[in-house]
Amino acid sequence: MTDVILPGSTLGMLGSGQLGRMFAIAARRMGYRVHVFSPDADSPTGQVADREFVAEYEDLDAVREFANTVSVVSFEFENVPAITSQAAGEIVPVRPGGHVLHITQNRNREKGTLSDAGLPVTPFAPVHTEEDLKNAVESLKTPAVLKTAGGGYDGKGQRIIKTPDQALAMWDELGRQEATYEAFIEFQGECSLVAARGVTGEFKAFPLFENEHANHILDVTMCPARVPQQVREDAEQIARAVFEILDVVGVMCVEFFWTKDDRLLINELAPRPHNSGHLTVDAHLTCQFEQQVRAICGLPLGSVRQHQPAAMVNLLGDLWEKGEPDWRSLCDHDTSKLHLYGKHEARVGRKMGHITTLANDIEDARTQALNARESL
Ligand code: AMP
Repeated sequence: MTDVILPGSTLGMLGSGQLGRMFAIAARRMGYRVHVFSPDADSPTGQVADREFVAEYEDLDAVREFANTVSVVSFEFENVPAITSQAAGEIVPVRPGGHVLHITQNRNREKGTLSDAGLPVTPFAPVHTEEDLKNAVESLKTPAVLKTAGGGYDGKGQRIIKTPDQALAMWDELGRQEATYEAFIEFQGECSLVAARGVTGEFKAFPLFENEHANHILDVTMCPARVPQQVREDAEQIARAVFEILDVVGVMCVEFFWTKDDRLLINELAPRPHNSGHLTVDAHLTCQFEQQVRAICGLPLGSVRQHQPAAMVNLLGDLWEKGEPDWRSLCDHDTSKLHLYGKHEARVGRKMGHITTLANDIEDARTQALNARESL
């Protein structure tokens, strides 16, 4: 039997942003202690953790010192260097394991692994050389999206290629790094499925989320997604297969394009809770962060039943342009819940917080959430 890590124990978190913060809040509510490790002091997670270790991820002595104070380590940021999770993993379990980080840190490895397993991904070709790029343009045509294979997020490290003659210049702009050439998908919508898998293989998926992006950054999430029942079932079946193939213990998000002929294509994986799952904090019996605690501690997973239709809107640093937003007027919207991440500096495009609104139907939840944000 697997050892269960019970409340009262200390959980370790690599990375100290808002995902770690909400994990720490969920863990502490359940009676756990939380230690966080990252290069930043007074971080969103550090502010609510029991102890904040501040050191570079490459400082393996510091990583070992941190790992020696906890029972299990998880992460909230998938670009933690492999050596960091390896060093921690020699002392305590790291969940999900380093093999999951290794695959999801590189788009070519991720898409290759999924398509080799027969799962539907956006048509793609790895680009290492000019020859690869030329072949990719010929086989996948334009329009297309060229993405750096590693390190990109929220649309960073991506270029849209409208005509074949633009391809080389775009790759130059990306510094001729290893890249992924993807067919441009004229999708009907974007969806994501957040699920958890426990130490024993138990699997539970939240209902499918429907996402709207602005400038490549998530803007609005709605749950339940307004898609046919078959699409929901397909999403859960695909996600379950991904969890099993990668042997994920923890929470992961599978992001999909929903095509015009009602197919789902995997866009990318996030091996941790996801921005689109933030509404679960207010709208579901168990939120994605509690589910992460349960999964990595070897506890049974919680019910994912939803209280009411819900919408979440992000609050980006742009809102601070004319000074601190008017939180008083936001609180006039009494069905909207405010979440702020404790970040000291508001920059354009930086995720500072979010609002979740519950209502009787999904359109109403979306409208109310947008109105609440507008009042700022
Ligand atoms: P990503 O960082 O890969 O999640 O991309 C960010 C956003 O860019 C996605 O959520 C889409 O809105 C858009 N995008 C990325 N790849 C494609 C594609 N192959 N076709 C169409 N839109 C895309």
